[in-house]
Amino acid sequence: MKVLVIGSGGREHALCYKLSKSSRVSKIYCAPGNGGTLQVAENVNINPKDTDLLLDFALSKSIDLTIVGPEDPLVNGIVDRFNENGLKIFGPEKKSAVLEGSKIISKEFMEKYNIPTGKYRVFKDVNDAINFLDEISYPIVVKADGLCAGKGVIICKNKDEGIKAIEKIMIDKKFGSSGEQIIIEEFLEGEETSLLCFVSQNNIFPMESARDYKKIFEGDKGPNTGGVGCFSPNPIMTYKLKKEIENTILKNIKIGLKNEGMNFKGILFIGLMLTKKGPQVLEFNVRFGDPETEVVLPRLESDILDILEKTMDGSLKSEDLKWTNKECITVVITSEGYPEEYKKGKEINGLENLDKDIIVFHNGTKVEDGKLVTNGGRVMSITCLGNTLEEAKKTVYRNIDKIKFDGMCYRKDIGIIENNI
Ligand code: ATP
Repeated sequence: MKVLVIGSGGREHALCYKLSKSSRVSKIYCAPGNGGTLQVAENVNINPKDTDLLLDFALSKSIDLTIVGPEDPLVNGIVDRFNENGLKIFGPEKKSAVLEGSKIISKEFMEKYNIPTGKYRVFKDVNDAINFLDEISYPIVVKADGLCAGKGVIICKNKDEGIKAIEKIMIDKKFGSSGEQIIIEEFLEGEETSLLCFVSQNNIFPMESARDYKKIFEGDKGPNTGGVGCFSPNPIMTYKLKKEIENTILKNIKIGLKNEGMNFKGILFIGLMLTKKGPQVLEFNVRFGDPETEVVLPRLESDILDILEKTMDGSLKSEDLKWTNKECITVVITSEGYPEEYKKGKEINGLENLDKDIIVFHNGTKVEDGKLVTNGGRVMSITCLGNTLEEAKKTVYRNIDKIKFDGMCYRKDIGIIENNI
């Protein structure tokens, strides 16, 4: 089978890597890919947002299955376009992708189907939103409705911060049309976790749990990032909690998907806050998470192609998903300055010295004049499976010491459970 993976991050490298292990996959293309996907796939220089070019490419190469990594193409309807042209593609249609594409529609869905979530109000008018700030207690969360590449959620400790957030989104239009409407939401307190699920024609199958680290500095200090480390399984996801999530959240999502005629096929990533009142939903994403994918997929023993196909045709069963008991950790090495400004083009050395059981998923690299260089804030996710988290952690950090590039940074406390709340 010929497969096309759309995207350029560690998540897409992990997908390509896993697909390369399937005996049924004969060729992998990655658009646009990175310096790591090159090892298992042929990179194709097409922007993930350019649906027309991707469609032309898939038709011209008779691609058997396309897998979409990032959210933008899904929200823009790439799955519908490919299907109209008789092409198989993994991911939800536009009608379902709106659960990530519009935070308002997503909250309305949660409210309608009794899915526990924070109280909220929607505003179209900037003055109405600002007036509302006098009626509430703080902190609050101000959210732009549409996609904002992870920057559209602002936590405000007081009225002044609330005004600034509203003005940034609605007057300065920092997120363009994504900020035409906003949500002002109750701040939920607790520990944050997430659950990645395969959704096979509205039937929901949770994957193994993962714990990600969002802050750039050790001890969970500094600004938020896309994620700088992760491990799986997450000890917080006990059997009891899984059952509670199934009964209070997953059941109702399934009812909602059916009632709304969504026929969801793909990945649902549920962001959760474990509050005193129980787990509440923060957000839905309709694609694999990054870096969660880098620790969850290495633990999947089943053939990923089989799983993706069964997810699409509605035949997936829990017993199809086989997971190793081994634990997996990934530490993301970043460019100095990230998540603010950083330099690119730094030569990366030492990868040839890594132990054989280390898996390197590239997030932001490229090959330039035959050399591997940095090409992003998150550069590479150094990943390892071990009999215990402790063992995997030791191996990863011992190997990271062998990697060198100018301005290389990483957190030294990934996998230390006491420190990560
Ligand atoms: P976008 O891509 O549009 O910028 P996003 O998908 O990054 O948005 P969310 O994941 O919904 O946005 O929110 C980002 C973070 O903000 C969450 O991971 C969580 O830490 C925090 N957050 C969101 N909603 C709440 C809430 N109601 N209470 C407390 N924290 C929240």
